[in-house]
Amino acid sequence: MPGSATTERTVPPAAAPKLNAVVDEHLRWLAQWHRAAFFAAEAGVKGPDGLPMPTGFLDWVQTVKAGDLTHQPAVDRLVTLHEQMHRMARLLLMRSVEGEPPNLAAYEAVIAKFDEFMAQLRRFERAFSVAGSGIDPLTGLRNRTGLEEELAREMNRFRRTGRPFCVALCDLDRFKTVNDTYGHEAGDRVLVATAGVINRAIRSFDEAFRLGGEEILILLKDTVLDEVRRVLERLRTDIAGNPVQLADGRVIKVTASFGVAEARLDLAADALMEAADQALYAAKREGRNRVVAAA
Ligand code: GH3
Ligand code: MG
Ligand code: MG
Repeated sequence: MPGSATTERTVPPAAAPKLNAVVDEHLRWLAQWHRAAFFAAEAGVKGPDGLPMPTGFLDWVQTVKAGDLTHQPAVDRLVTLHEQMHRMARLLLMRSVEGEPPNLAAYEAVIAKFDEFMAQLRRFERAFSVAGSGIDPLTGLRNRTGLEEELAREMNRFRRTGRPFCVALCDLDRFKTVNDTYGHEAGDRVLVATAGVINRAIRSFDEAFRLGGEEILILLKDTVLDEVRRVLERLRTDIAGNPVQLADGRVIKVTASFGVAEARLDLAADALMEAADQALYAAKREGRNRVVAAA
């Protein structure tokens, strides 16, 4: 299903500072956990609930999920990692409270999860600082913030000069299946490869933006629908004809559907995007791997 292009939003800048707080609270939590796990009796820890779980992380997850679809799958993986870490830490603490001697393997497993959790948080931190600059960190395309500016500029130019332009929405077909079959990292590679094919296919003054998920908007300037259909048809066959090869030799076939709309004087930018979204929806409904123009 195509995403609703007009409702997805970019990362709220407020998510970045809160992430620092999550790192800090977990560093504090780890120190308390060490104390409780190794000196349960002296530290006065009566049971595993004697060490409460930090709450900032789950708040942070809520904020990010509400605002940013681009990072959704990675956030889900982070939530799982966080749960595993706390479950393992709690188990070790429980044993310690019951007077069992410390077990090195169990301890190292908790620390390994903690390190992985911290590393992932720091990746998010970097990704958000890049996202704040209007660039999607995965594909290097500009994100929705950049699009809004560019679309407004193009709309003004159209009203002033009468020179037409088009917007095309591209959504990968059955991409969920790609993730489910090959994993999210492979899915990410497909996204990067697709962004590359699109960038090579369009003219230098056209521009592609990643709206979120696997949906890319292409702004095609100074051109009419008939020409754009030809460009997109070529792009569609380029994507279908260039399967993505993984490092381990596996090859992933991908296709994409396109919905395209030409600017009109009586259409605001939002309505133009909506028209392209409707056309994309029709392309999906009619069987995918095709280009459909707005009526
Ligand atoms: P359709 O042909 O109807 O578009 O089917 P679809 O499976 O592609 O469905 P949809 O567009 O609704 O699903 C998009 C999927 O893209 C869901 C999500 O798991 C995945 N996705 C979104 N963002 C990312 C990302 O950054 N990386 C990866 N690997 N997957 C992502
Ligand atoms: Mg989609
Ligand atoms: Mg899709």
